[in-house]
Amino acid sequence: MKIKFWGVRGSIASPIKPRSIRGKIETILSLATPMDIQSPDSIKKFLGNLSFSHHSTYGGNTTSIEIRDKEDHLIMLDSGTGIRELGMEMMKSEFGKGQGKADWVFTHTHWDHIQGFPFFVPLFVPNNEFTFYSSMEGIEERLKYQHSFSHFPVPFEGYLAQKSFHYVPEGEKFALGKHIQAHSKSMRHPGGSFSYRFEEDGKSLIFASDVEFNLDEMDNIEEYIGYFEGADVLVFDTQYTFEESLQKIDWGHSSASIATDIALKAGVKKLVMFHHDPSYDDEKLDAVYLRALKYKEMFDPMGRLDIVMAYEGLELEI
Ligand SMILES: [Zn+2]
Ligand SMILES: [Zn+2]
Repeated sequence: MKIKFWGVRGSIASPIKPRSIRGKIETILSLATPMDIQSPDSIKKFLGNLSFSHHSTYGGNTTSIEIRDKEDHLIMLDSGTGIRELGMEMMKSEFGKGQGKADWVFTHTHWDHIQGFPFFVPLFVPNNEFTFYSSMEGIEERLKYQHSFSHFPVPFEGYLAQKSFHYVPEGEKFALGKHIQAHSKSMRHPGGSFSYRFEEDGKSLIFASDVEFNLDEMDNIEEYIGYFEGADVLVFDTQYTFEESLQKIDWGHSSASIATDIALKAGVKKLVMFHHDPSYDDEKLDAVYLRALKYKEMFDPMGRLDIVMAYEGLELEI
């Protein structure tokens, strides 16, 4: 199973600012020595040694995930603004000829998880087949609502691809393609949200955004540990710093420290920090990541847990 991130930002799309690009250039130029820029190889090496925020960006698109099984069957997760670019990529394949088939799973329908849907071109191509799954009731009506004429010029019916919608009760196993089994768990989030656990050949991927865990919740965390238990990869909502998570009770999101506590308790192998706050620039996200690593070092001396930051284009093999 593979996962690729097309949108990692929470709440609202947040494109990189021109002043941020200027700042990155100024930083890089101030750090480079003549030796660093004498050849394409030395430039590559120099950039590779810099902080991520100096030479790249985490990305501004909202939640959009691509999952592939071992036969390359496509499963999409949510349709934030990043899904538009995945759609353009898919148009170069069988989806451009109306011969594509994919499954599509939805966690919930807050704007940052559906705003890319109207701009997803493969839906306009007749004979493409999309099968939708969600433990959120009424997903078809919720998506249609976004296409009401007061909000968007093209009606939902303008999508000529074949679409079928399936409600999957919480906890009930369902198949995605021939190889992946999935089931959901309800998460604490305003308006509700569902996490999904995907399994193929004994490997597991859990997507858990948007979810709120806080210290008050830690007493009854055991009921969730069984669900997260032993995940090879856990993608988790880490929108807030620890301090913010104490101030923003009931806002529906978590912090990296709580995510780390949960991942360690559940024996997770890799934690992916996800749903980055739209007000955080790349430098702040670098700092949030470093702080998360420091926190983990205190409680994970044996280094059992790996923590990575989600960024647009990140691909993981599970
Ligand atoms: Zn969200
Ligand atoms: Zn949400």
